[in-house]
Amino acid sequence: MNCSKCKIRLKEVKVKVYGAKNKVLSYQCPKCHYFEFEPESSKKVVEELRETPLKIKQNIIKLSQDRLGIYFNVNIVRSLGLKKGEEVLLSVPDKKHILLELQENKK
Ligand SMILES: [Zn+2]
Repeated sequence: MNCSKCKIRLKEVKVKVYGAKNKVLSYQCPKCHYFEFEPESSKKVVEELRETPLKIKQNIIKLSQDRLGIYFNVNIVRSLGLKKGEEVLLSVPDKKHILLELQENKK
């Protein structure tokens, strides 16, 4: 496959998508940086992300003056064995994700 503008061969580059094991194959032009995803592999990744076992819509609640919080519903509490007072590590990888990491050696 060639770049429609530069007429040179597009480079195949595998792109990692956050949260997915499969990589998306993309075609990139080394000259003009034209970029397109290979449809089959991107479909696979979208499907994989959709199959994430728990994806639940939650509202952010107001806790006090400047503090907000979210509830963990009973399904999440049970499947992860969460307990009150437990420590989690919170990180913000980008402006659309909040990542909570549970401590390793949990019983
Ligand atoms: Zn090009």
